[in-house]
Amino acid sequence: MNCFGFTFAAANLSKLKIKIVMAIIITDECINCGACEPECPNTAIYEGADDWRYNDGTSLDGNVILPNGKEVDASEAQEPISDEIYYIVPDKCTECKGFHEEPQCAAVCPVDCCIPDEDVVETEDELLGKQRFMHPED
Ligand code: SF4
Ligand code: SF4
Repeated sequence: MNCFGFTFAAANLSKLKIKIVMAIIITDECINCGACEPECPNTAIYEGADDWRYNDGTSLDGNVILPNGKEVDASEAQEPISDEIYYIVPDKCTECKGFHEEPQCAAVCPVDCCIPDEDVVETEDELLGKQRFMHPED
């Protein structure tokens, strides 16, 4: 979404008093230290070139329909999002909602390269819904 589109969408959500938040993205300033990966409560962070799965570190199993309507096989290996640096899977990132007060990856990153992803805007309720969907037993 371009800058104008984002600003327009944010302004309208603000009028509706809906708190908007974003998934976190790792920028290319990442130095591959690996500090963030074990901190993620959703196992949404992977090392560059590693495959990822919806069921890694979650309760998802078999064919599932995600809260965003996407149908996936939770155990199927998915293509890496980056081959060079650690990356975050947007569908699994909840900005740590439901677990912590702040994004844990950003809190530990020594070079501050875990930043909000303006292309993945969600409401706080949507992020909490994602967290409950992935971890219904918690
Ligand atoms: S913000 Fe939280 S849930 Fe998202 S990638 Fe970082 S540690 Fe994981
Ligand atoms: S903590 Fe920061 S620098 Fe280290 S791997 Fe994670 S994103 Fe990259």
